[in-house]
Amino acid sequence: MADLHTDVRYIKGIGEKKALALNKLGVFSLYDLVSFFPRRYEDRSQFCPIRETLSGETVCIRALVADEPRLMRIRRGMDLVKFRAVDESGSVDITYFNQNYVKDNLHKGDMVCFYGRMEIRGNMHSMANPVYEHEGSEKGVTGRIVPIYRMTAGLNQRTILQAIRQGLDACGGQLPEALPEEVRARQKLVQARYAYENIHFPADFGTLELARRRLIFEELFVLSCALNDVRRQRVNDDGILLPKVDLSPFWASLPFAPTGAQRRAVDEALTDMTGGTAMSRLVQGDVGSGKTLVAAALVYAAHRGGVMSAFMAPTEILAEQHFATLTSFLSPFGLRVGKLTGAMRAKEKREVKAALKTGEYDLIVGTHALLSEDVEYANLGLVVTDEQHRFGVNQRAALVGKGRRPHVLVMSATPIPRTLALILYGDLDVSIIDELPPGRQKIDTFAVDESYRARLNGFIQKLCAEGRQVFVVCPMVEENEELETPLKSAEEHAQELQHVFPALRVACVHGKMKPKDKDAVMRGFAAGETDILVSTTVIEVGVDVPNAALMVVENAERFGLSQLHQLRGRVGRGQHKSWCILVSDNTNEETAARLEIMCKTNDGFKIAERDLQMRGPGDFFGSRQHGLPEMHVADLGADMNIMQEAQKEAQQLLSRDPRLQEPENAALRERVERLLTQSAAGFN
Ligand code: ADP
Ligand code: MG
Repeated sequence: MADLHTDVRYIKGIGEKKALALNKLGVFSLYDLVSFFPRRYEDRSQFCPIRETLSGETVCIRALVADEPRLMRIRRGMDLVKFRAVDESGSVDITYFNQNYVKDNLHKGDMVCFYGRMEIRGNMHSMANPVYEHEGSEKGVTGRIVPIYRMTAGLNQRTILQAIRQGLDACGGQLPEALPEEVRARQKLVQARYAYENIHFPADFGTLELARRRLIFEELFVLSCALNDVRRQRVNDDGILLPKVDLSPFWASLPFAPTGAQRRAVDEALTDMTGGTAMSRLVQGDVGSGKTLVAAALVYAAHRGGVMSAFMAPTEILAEQHFATLTSFLSPFGLRVGKLTGAMRAKEKREVKAALKTGEYDLIVGTHALLSEDVEYANLGLVVTDEQHRFGVNQRAALVGKGRRPHVLVMSATPIPRTLALILYGDLDVSIIDELPPGRQKIDTFAVDESYRARLNGFIQKLCAEGRQVFVVCPMVEENEELETPLKSAEEHAQELQHVFPALRVACVHGKMKPKDKDAVMRGFAAGETDILVSTTVIEVGVDVPNAALMVVENAERFGLSQLHQLRGRVGRGQHKSWCILVSDNTNEETAARLEIMCKTNDGFKIAERDLQMRGPGDFFGSRQHGLPEMHVADLGADMNIMQEAQKEAQQLLSRDPRLQEPENAALRERVERLLTQSAAGFN
C-alpha cells in the first residue's frame, strides 16, 4: 500500500532510470511528486474546426484519420509518417518525422484529437508532429487545460503527468492539511486534496485559480511560520546589556532637529540594545533620509554604555565620508574616532590596529579592512554596516564574530516593501525611515530622447557656469555585447563631452579602473576640481556631493527603477535646486512606463514597489539576491497581499501555539521544519 513516503520508483511506468531523472528534479517520494507543481498551462480545452484555424496558431482539432498512414523513407535517418485527417469543416495533412510507431497507433477511420501548430499555404492546411490521442482516451493531453512541467533528460510531459495521476490516486486522500481549519475558513481556501488535484488537473480556469490561491497561501503561511521561528531563536540569544541612555545632549548638539522617523528608528534600536538580547536590526531609508545620524546616535549610546562600535562602509570614499561626518557628530562628546581602510599605508594600519586592540578608539570607521584576520577589537559592542546589499551575509557575520554578541545594525538604501524585507532579511527586525528631513526639494525629473541633446548640452553649460557640478551615468557595456543600438560607453562619452565643452573639466570613472584611481577621481569631483563626472554605476552608492545639481542618465532604458532612483539620489543633497534627466531613444512601452514613474514620484518606496511588480523579485535583487527560499507556487513580487494575509494569520496562530506543539498543528509543524532544513543556509 503506497503512502506519501513511498519512493517514486515504485510507480507503474517509472523504472530505475526515470526515477533518477525525477530525483534530479527534486522528486523522491510520492509527496514530492504531487507537490511538483506545473510551471505553466496550455489551454487545449477548446477544439477548433480546421477551417477556422489561423496559420501559425497552436490549436486543438478533432478529426477523422481519412487514409491509412504511410511510412516513407526520405533518406537515411529521415522517415516520415504521413496521412490526411478531416473534420466537417476541412482537411489537414499531418506528418510525423522519425516517429515510425505512429503508423502502428493510428489507422484509417480513427477519431483522433491533435494538438499542434497549424501551417496554412493557400488552401492547404498542415501540421507537423502534433501531440495526439484517440478521442475518449484517458490520457488527457488534449481537450483540456494541460499542465506543463519542468523537464529533464529521460522524462517527458506525458510520463510526469501519468505519474502524478497515479500518485494522486494512490494517496490524494492522505495529504496532510497544513492549514488550520479556522484559517482555511476565514480565508475561504479550498481543501488540500482539492487544491492538489486541481493544480495538476484543473477542470477549468476557475478551479485552477482556487487551487493556486490555496497553495500560494499555504506556501507563504508556512514561510511566515518559519521566519517567526528563526526570529524567536535569535531573540533568545543573550546580547550585551546596555544601560538606558539619555540622548538629549546628543540631539541638542545637532544643527537640526532629528525627524520623527529618525527618532523612532533610534528608539526601536535602543529598546533592543537595552533589553538584554542581541540586536539584529535593519534600518531602511530612502537616499537622503539621514541614516548616518541614526547610526551616530546609537554609537553615542553604546559609548555611554561602555562599549566601542565599528562602522563598515562598502568603499574607500564612503568610509572617508562617514569618518568625517561621524567625527563631527561625536568628537564634541569626547569620542575617539578612528579610520581603517585598505588604501592606508601599512604603517598607519599597524598603528590603528594596535590602538584598536588596546581600546583606544570608541568608534572605528572603515572598509572590508575591518574584517582582516589580524584586526582585534577591545570590547566591540555595536556593529553597523552601511549599504547592506554590498556586503555578503558572511562578511557581516565575520565582523560580528569579532565581538561577543555585539548588537548589529544594518543600513540599507534600497527601499523594499516591508513584507519582502521580512523575507529577505529573515531574522532581522526592520525599522523604516519613511520621512525625509524637512525642506528637501523635489528633484525635477524628465525623460527625453536624442532630439533634446542640444538643449541638454545647453542646460549643462548653464549649470556649470553657475558653479554647479554634473553627474553623467552611462550603462555598463560588456565588450562582447552585440547590440543594434549603440550604447554610450563612459569613456567615449566623456571624450565627446570634453569636445563639446572645451572649457569645462570632464572626468571619467568606471568599474574597470583600479580602486585607488577610482577614488582619486571621485575625490577630485567631491572637492569641486571637476565639473562633469562621467561614470558607470560605480557612483550608485551614497557619495555626498552637495554641489552636484544635475544627474544625466544615458540609455536610461538599461537601468532598473530602483537603480535609477539611487542614481537620482546623488543630486539634491545640498541647498541647490536639482534635476535628473533620463535620456533614452527606446520606444518600448515598458521602458516608457518605467521612466514615467521616475518623472512622477520621488518616493523610493513607491518606486521599489512598482519595480518589484514589474520585474519580480529575482531581477529586482539581481545577482545579489540571497536569502530567498525557493517558492514553488508563490511569486514573492506579485503575491504580496497574500503574503500579508498569511503573515497576519501566522502571527495569530503562533500567539496561541508558539511552537506549534498542539496536535492539530502537527502537519504544519512538519512543513515548517522541512522548509527550515531546506533553507538552513538561506535565511540570513
Ligand atoms: P542617507 O540616509 O542617504 O545615508 P545621510 O545620512 O547621508 O542620508 O543624510 C543626508 C543628508 O541629510 C546629510 O547631509 C545629513 O546631514 C542631512 N540630515 C540628516 N538628518 C537630518 C535632519 N533631521 N534634518 C536636516 N538634515 C538632516
Ligand atoms: Mg548613507
